[in-house]
Amino acid sequence: MERVEGIEPSYAAWKAAVLPLNYTRHQRRESYRPNLPCQSAVANLRAVNSLLLSGGRVLDPANHLDTLADVLILNGKIAAVGNDAAAQAPSDIEKLDANGLVVCPGLIDLHVHLREPGQTLKENISTGTAAAARGGFTSLVCMPNTSPSIDNAGTVALIHERAAREGAVNLFVAGAITKGIAGEELAPIGGLKRAGVVAITDDGHCVQNNELMRRACEYAKMFDLPVMDHCQDYSLVTSGVMHEGRWSTSLGLQGWPSAGEEMIVARNILLAELTGASVHCQHLSAAGSVALIREAKKRGVPVSGEACPHHFTLTDAAIAGSEKFWAEDGKQVFSLQSSVGELPVWPAYDTNFKMNPPLRSARDREAILEGLVDGTIEILCSDHAPHCGFEKEVEFDYAPFGITGLEVELALSLMQLYHTKRLGLADVITKFTVAPARLLKLAKGTLSVGADADVTVFDPDRDWSFERETTASKSFNNPFYGWPLKGKAVATIVKGRKVWVEQEAVACV
Ligand SMILES: [Zn+2]
Repeated sequence: MERVEGIEPSYAAWKAAVLPLNYTRHQRRESYRPNLPCQSAVANLRAVNSLLLSGGRVLDPANHLDTLADVLILNGKIAAVGNDAAAQAPSDIEKLDANGLVVCPGLIDLHVHLREPGQTLKENISTGTAAAARGGFTSLVCMPNTSPSIDNAGTVALIHERAAREGAVNLFVAGAITKGIAGEELAPIGGLKRAGVVAITDDGHCVQNNELMRRACEYAKMFDLPVMDHCQDYSLVTSGVMHEGRWSTSLGLQGWPSAGEEMIVARNILLAELTGASVHCQHLSAAGSVALIREAKKRGVPVSGEACPHHFTLTDAAIAGSEKFWAEDGKQVFSLQSSVGELPVWPAYDTNFKMNPPLRSARDREAILEGLVDGTIEILCSDHAPHCGFEKEVEFDYAPFGITGLEVELALSLMQLYHTKRLGLADVITKFTVAPARLLKLAKGTLSVGADADVTVFDPDRDWSFERETTASKSFNNPFYGWPLKGKAVATIVKGRKVWVEQEAVACV
């Protein structure tokens, strides 16, 4: 259709205003993500829903299973696990040799931002779930701070429909606590539950009004939904951009104090106790938050917490540049690894180290690790938060908060928890499978016979490095490019379909 200048906006103006919002409708994915598996291969992979995984170390914490065994998948369900599984398999079944690899329930990440609808220049359901598959994740929970926000049943239905059509992995939806995530008026929580949300949260924002949060907890309890909270007291944090401490002072950046998180964690504990609602504190970063949750759990308060790899790998020293980081706080990152080679280098004020909550001190990092080890923090997740290059390539003060994480979170978690001998492999897997499934009441996170065949196959000892050219995400805002990583997913299976296998994906590039 020809458009002429006149009362209507010009075609150029329309394109500038509307096109970014409808990016997926106008651009085929391949044209700007050439590194994704080629379509024919995806089609071939998706036709398969029966598979025999032979000879792997089967780790299923939900069934207290850690043994060398075969796993038989028939018609998208787990059909048998054990030494006799192969004997039950049809003779022409496709086989995947899992010798030397770990076979575990498909990993779940309950905290990701897929940016759809409305911010699909950063990411969309197709690219975000493709990144998840590469990282070994078979189920995601997407956050509602999209544009418009997920505060009504219609938007939930839209996401479910798009995920069914374009998603590489299972996608569950978190609804908003308040309308428009504005923190002023409750969203229709009952309607959201009926539409299928698995939790409510205003993530990215935090309900400041305690009375409103109390009502949200009461409704959530009534509808049997956990309340997940991004813990940030605005009056304490104001316009802080990094952890308030020694480094914010020397770098001249405004601080975001630990108390800004701890204040809301304490508030949430009190409200969980008052209402009986299950309150989950997201992306914990501060030592005080861990101590508060540890003490509350002892009293039986229904509160829980999650941690992201960047908070237990990096510290605020990273914002002063790689030299400062490796000289002090960075020393422990690779301390138990025999050969690391050249350490990664980055400049001071690198905005890929800006996230919310911010990277904190070495003491806070240690407290998060301790909380993960003693079970105070039950869940691991990425807070995958893609942003466009042009948004991040500005002064530190003006850059948006957040980094991508789906493709490196398994490796970083294994490095900081398993390879440092702080936790056993089964404990790390528990935090990615049973624990999130239990919080959200998902029928996932196990290899029990009859369960959906969501399976992750990974090599806990694989040395590799994450490179910009290989990411499946639309965005590149990640601080871990070029890091010597250890531990990698090699096959991701969703309902019996191989949605990603390392070699085949490489062959298609
Ligand atoms: Zn958040």
